[in-house]
Amino acid sequence: MTSLTSSRRLVVKIGSSILVDEKKGTIRHEWLEALTRDVARLHKGGCEIVLVSSGAIRLGRTHLKLPSGALKLEESQAAAATGQIRLAHAYQESLARHGITVAQVLLTLDDSEERRRYLNARQTMGTLLGLKAIPVINENDTVATDEIRFGDNDRLGARVAEMISADTLVLLSDIDGLYTADPRSNKGAQHIAEIREVTPEIEAMAGVAASELSNGGMVTKLMAGRIAMAAGCRMAIADGRAVGALGALIDGAARCSWFLPEASPLSARKKWIKGSLKSSGTLVVDDGAVRALSSGKSLLPAGVTAIDGEFKRGDVVDVKDKKGHTLARGLVAYAAEDARRIAGRKSVEIEKLLGFRGRDEIVHRDDLVVE
Ligand code: GLU
Repeated sequence: MTSLTSSRRLVVKIGSSILVDEKKGTIRHEWLEALTRDVARLHKGGCEIVLVSSGAIRLGRTHLKLPSGALKLEESQAAAATGQIRLAHAYQESLARHGITVAQVLLTLDDSEERRRYLNARQTMGTLLGLKAIPVINENDTVATDEIRFGDNDRLGARVAEMISADTLVLLSDIDGLYTADPRSNKGAQHIAEIREVTPEIEAMAGVAASELSNGGMVTKLMAGRIAMAAGCRMAIADGRAVGALGALIDGAARCSWFLPEASPLSARKKWIKGSLKSSGTLVVDDGAVRALSSGKSLLPAGVTAIDGEFKRGDVVDVKDKKGHTLARGLVAYAAEDARRIAGRKSVEIEKLLGFRGRDEIVHRDDLVVE
């Protein structure tokens, strides 16, 4: 069975129905303690972890004593505002017992769809992970309206996994994976242990096997599977209800459904850079930079001799040698105007030249595809 111990960068999505006690509408503390113990174990082993947690609306609803039944948008938003602070606090308290710092990150759909915001969020998350903090993420429900909402944390979790180039995404749910039919009403339903492609047949199974009380259900889990697999990230749907459920999964002792991609996270990201966007400009580089690029290094401003085109930070640019041969394509870390100012200069001068401290690299090697 695939275990989690090989993961270096892991996103765990925690569904509302497993974190919050259904009757009381409050956090299941014993469950959370076990979760953070398991998270701390992985963290100690050097794994970088991001938690995407639902539950804000459910907790806020209890606290505000809102009536049962469907909530109006503004009521959900009020509930989220009240619940999110409690949710974040619970994680902070619990992880602090293991000496781990928690960072709250609230995202909207635009943060993952708009390139510059996406890059910013990615950078922040990378910095937090580098500082050994654990980001606890939720959708920014208080400002997200219907049109700009994910609405479910399954897809948000997958977008986050893609954003930070995670190798593994785990959806802790109330069912241990995908079945050929709904196992609650169909005794003959068979569990599917491995999915290598989300085919129409698989989607048809999810249609009838939809579960979970929260917004998720199996349909959004499959959408998450598609996003994760396209990003080269494997994904598991696992039953997270039991106390210590993550621990069992870490040890490979719990049954779940694995969605297994072909490519590694980096090559999928690079495929995306190379294939999916048009270039907005060109950076011409000197011979030293040509050598650096071919040995897999980042492109520094010092190696750039000329800049063509008008681009914004995060746009795709071509990198060419002085004869005009295209060497690489990548995501540029500075807008054209700023790039012109720092071209040919040392990275330590960036702050003085621009008035802010940006990245040392004009195109980081993770954002670069050499032809
Ligand atoms: N963001 C919502 C919350 O925290 C949950 C969305 C979901 O259930 O996936 O309440």
